[in-house]
Amino acid sequence: MTPSTKPVRVRFAPSPTGRLHLGGARTALYDYLLARQTGGTFILRIEDIDLKRYVPGAEEELKQGLRWLGLEWDEGPDVGGSFGPYRQSERKEIYLDYARQLIDQGKAYYCFCTPQRLASMREQQQRSKLPIKYDGTCRQLDPGKAAKRVAAGEPHVIRFKIPEEGSITIHDYLRGDIVVENRTIDDYILIRTDGFALYHLAAMVDDHLMKISHVIRGSEWLSTFPLHAHIIRAFGWEEPIWIHLSIFLKPSGKGKMSKRESAELMKDGYSIYINDLQGLGYVPEAVLNCIALMGWSYDDHTEFFTKEDLIQKFSIDRLNPAPAAINFTKFDHFNGLHIRNLSIEDLCNRVKPFFLNAGYKVDDQVLMQVTPIIQQRIATLEEAPTMAGFFFEEHVYPNPQELIGAKMTAVDSANALRAVYDLLSSLPRIDTETAEIPMRNLADQLHLKAGQLFGIIRVAVTGKTVSPPLIESMAIIGKEKVLERILNGIDMLGNMA
Ligand code: GLU
Repeated sequence: MTPSTKPVRVRFAPSPTGRLHLGGARTALYDYLLARQTGGTFILRIEDIDLKRYVPGAEEELKQGLRWLGLEWDEGPDVGGSFGPYRQSERKEIYLDYARQLIDQGKAYYCFCTPQRLASMREQQQRSKLPIKYDGTCRQLDPGKAAKRVAAGEPHVIRFKIPEEGSITIHDYLRGDIVVENRTIDDYILIRTDGFALYHLAAMVDDHLMKISHVIRGSEWLSTFPLHAHIIRAFGWEEPIWIHLSIFLKPSGKGKMSKRESAELMKDGYSIYINDLQGLGYVPEAVLNCIALMGWSYDDHTEFFTKEDLIQKFSIDRLNPAPAAINFTKFDHFNGLHIRNLSIEDLCNRVKPFFLNAGYKVDDQVLMQVTPIIQQRIATLEEAPTMAGFFFEEHVYPNPQELIGAKMTAVDSANALRAVYDLLSSLPRIDTETAEIPMRNLADQLHLKAGQLFGIIRVAVTGKTVSPPLIESMAIIGKEKVLERILNGIDMLGNMA
């Protein structure tokens, strides 16, 4: 049986210590796809026990990001479920209870070493070029005496007792069996001095209690994976299927992304953060498509996927553990494709806030007409106001120099524009049907190339040298305003002559 045919229980378990980025979103997506595909359950668990690194507002941003991507969870904060609470900070006692069970079975122990002692131990190990690892001092303590010290209130942590000898064989679904010598594994802390569990214990306990069948997580957890398997086996629990995803490399393909590089990226209109991508005009469909392909492929050529396609076609058997470089050119490409895949009405609703943000007053009727002609031309929603803001302006303010046609003088350009005015004012309305041929004929009569003449009109009417197709644009702007703008252009050119 392939592991993904039964309804799975999977969890996305972010720590609210930072922002939701592409890597986290990809993990959530794979969880979600597997859950939807198998009729299983997608759980959101907030791992907020590292109070020092807690960032206020991070949980909200995480949830907002997941919702924007359309990765709705079936159990978790806000929606509940029968395995809660789903915030680790609300599960402190549960972890303590399990840690004490390990103590009782001699599989964990109290450790009273002070931070000072641990620091000098590490220093010594460093000097002697030994691996940095707890030296086992408190492992030797008599459990009865240790329990008394704890009862008397002496500060302590609880450490896991890794077997001294032998090795452990663990299985990653993508990498196969991994054998690790036990002597290389540290006696990691399970419970800190403040009574809070660390990830290593908390996540294993939660995965067990929440009946998680597949643990999909970042490959940064591979190094402590042997410890996690030891903990689960110490309790005698069934292990989930472990899937450690590939790492994300920065766009150059050299190394992991850093904070500084993320800031640099933003200057170019890119970001690794989901919330930023939303503001930069990426559509969630494209973000999902791109991240799906960063570590998974369907075959060697299909690249366009909607969420529904992905639910059908995703398979953990086609995940690839090789590092994947973030490719923003691809993001733009896919964003364009998914924008073109939207209905006009849907796209209208999505571009509208971008026009409003840019300060335009949006007339919905006009927007419905503008949207089809920009749909083919924008790579991000943010480009819409730059490309098509002039549709929502009373007046445009061309750069006078740009009104002068290629290889022409201001006088020639003014004359040409006057002829255009006469032609267009004689038409019942301006659209492709009525204006295209007469305008081309006019260019011939004036001994101009169509491009030269259209260039002058474009600048006069749109205020820009690049715009959506000219005649279609004029049709939307309407005859009256077009003529007004042409007159204004003639005036401006006249003032230059
Ligand atoms: N809280 C961990 C993190 O944010 C989760 C890792 C996991 O999925 O187990 O990295």
